[in-house]
Amino acid sequence: MTRHYNFGAGPATISELVLEEAQSELLKWNGQGMSVLECSHRSPAFMALIEEAEQNIRDLLAISDDYAVLFLAAPGRSQYAMVPMNLLRGKQQADYLQTGIWSAMAAKEAQKYCDVNIVASSENENYRLIQPRASWQVNSDAAYFHYVSNETVNGIEIHDVPEVDDLPIVTDMTSNILSKPIDVSKFACIYSGAQKNIGPAGLTLVIVRKDYLGQALPITPTVYDYKINADKHSLYYTPATFSIYLANLTFKWLKQQGGVEAIAAVNQRKSAKLYAAIDESSFYHNSVDVPNRSIMNVIFTLANSDLDKVFLEKAAEHNFAGLKGHRIVGGMRASIYNAMPEAGVDALIAFMKDFEQQNA
Ligand SMILES: *Cc1c(COP(=O)(O)O)cnc(C)c1O
Repeated sequence: MTRHYNFGAGPATISELVLEEAQSELLKWNGQGMSVLECSHRSPAFMALIEEAEQNIRDLLAISDDYAVLFLAAPGRSQYAMVPMNLLRGKQQADYLQTGIWSAMAAKEAQKYCDVNIVASSENENYRLIQPRASWQVNSDAAYFHYVSNETVNGIEIHDVPEVDDLPIVTDMTSNILSKPIDVSKFACIYSGAQKNIGPAGLTLVIVRKDYLGQALPITPTVYDYKINADKHSLYYTPATFSIYLANLTFKWLKQQGGVEAIAAVNQRKSAKLYAAIDESSFYHNSVDVPNRSIMNVIFTLANSDLDKVFLEKAAEHNFAGLKGHRIVGGMRASIYNAMPEAGVDALIAFMKDFEQQNA
């Protein structure tokens, strides 16, 4: 059986080179005479690994020493609670920009801990656009401004960091972290579940400004306290050791590809040709406001939704997996993260053209 092109949103495709490397050293890792899965998280070998992983992500995103880097054994959405718990810093209000289902979920969870001000919402527009900055109701007493840089389900991305006066900016970057260079110094906190662009599930990366730490709400569970995790270098509890190992292989792979700048150019090319194929046809359609189309998650519908099922069946025959859109929005979605080779996108476009010819 050949490996499929996996366009699933997450857990998502991982570079074959990374998987092969993991396979080659699965039984005996790093001269340990055992698998990394079996190694103590306090062994010198594992401690060296987590240090290396931290250094690699610092190199890739040019993260300064003003920031702590945490590898948490938690789902991405755990941060919807951990952010207010850790970053309210004595304040009672927080600003949330609502641009899709993930940011809506983040805002709802935060309401358990503070007063949430929805700065702007495009829910009534089915999250097809980002409300213009001039219409946002930013509350300057907020502890922070939260947004989701890429709405994985709705296929909409905010490409530039919003200007929100002097509010600390917190972002859920789960589905577009490492897809392009970012200026980390513009953020108070960046977090990301790993199962999209980093690789393995079971791990969440948090990059947070050190001077914001140490003021967690008293109810914060110890394992959810950023400061404790930072002070203990992500080894307060047993971390997701294998996920960290695989994430580090991905970081090294990305460095070999030329880093985030080089991969950003590839990502631009991949998404541009897929959107062009969709726009050229009257058979496929994407309704997201063009300037905010996602580079990572390309959603599209078929003009005749009766054909959805056949499209997915034929796609499966061609070894394309994971193209079904999220149940909330329907249609199709091609997630084309860093690890999706350009050849996979080319093959998908050729298949789509063929399918159109036979069914239009
Ligand atoms: C996938 C995803 C999440 C959540 O992932 P879990 O680990 O299942 O909680 C959060 N935010 C965004 C933007 C995502 O794409």
